[in-house]
Amino acid sequence: MFGGPFDESIIKRAIENDLVQIALHNLRDQGIGKHRVVDDYPHGGGAGMVLMAEPLFSTIEKIKGDSDVPVILLTPQGRLFNQKVAEELTSHDRFILICGHYEGIDERVREHLVTDEISIGDYVLTGGELAAMVIIDAVVRQLPGVLGSDESIKDDSHANGLLEYPQYTRPQSFRGWEVPPVLLSGNHAEIAKWRREQSILRTFQRRPDLLENADLSEEELAMNKTLREAKDANEK
Ligand code: SAM
Repeated sequence: MFGGPFDESIIKRAIENDLVQIALHNLRDQGIGKHRVVDDYPHGGGAGMVLMAEPLFSTIEKIKGDSDVPVILLTPQGRLFNQKVAEELTSHDRFILICGHYEGIDERVREHLVTDEISIGDYVLTGGELAAMVIIDAVVRQLPGVLGSDESIKDDSHANGLLEYPQYTRPQSFRGWEVPPVLLSGNHAEIAKWRREQSILRTFQRRPDLLENADLSEEELAMNKTLREAKDANEK
């Protein structure tokens, strides 16, 4: 499952340039018996299988040794993943992600081995692999040197609490729809001002909740207030 995303584009380059190392560990290598079993029926009955404690403990203890590397369980019951959590994870030299499967994992793994639990959203996936890929992608692109220009992450949506401004490329006129003239003006100060305003406007329209924690200047707070008043007046 991991082949595609890790063999392509930015992640691939980051691995090749030794900016990140991603190791995959198959639980079955520590599976029990000659069939390398890793799952069993839940005590108490019910549908589905549960990943057993023993293969998980032996796999993870082998990886981490005596180190206190964070052991993160991917679960729809965990704290919600977002850009802040991605940034937080970049502060660790290493971390381990556990991909659950079937009905999940034996609770004793969560109680005695796991140090953090992360969900990528309020829905249920078949396994933790896709969640792991999402998290790894979001974390790796934060690492210094991974993107062509480190500048490109600073205006990304969620990087500074706002959504990114609209982007345009050639042609200047497409089916009669024009690129905003300010972007063609060559006036960098005006372009930066327009982008910041668009960023605030877009956040106001789509994710007003984000503006509550965004770092806004006095002028921008006033702009936010005017937008809110206009919206309230419109709704009356
Ligand atoms: N029965 C579990 C529950 O209700 O909490 C869900 C098990 S789910 C079918 C199988 C595995 O997919 C989970 O153990 C977890 O690793 C992963 N998974 C599912 N949804 C996820 C989410 N939103 N975020 C992170 N991992 C998720």
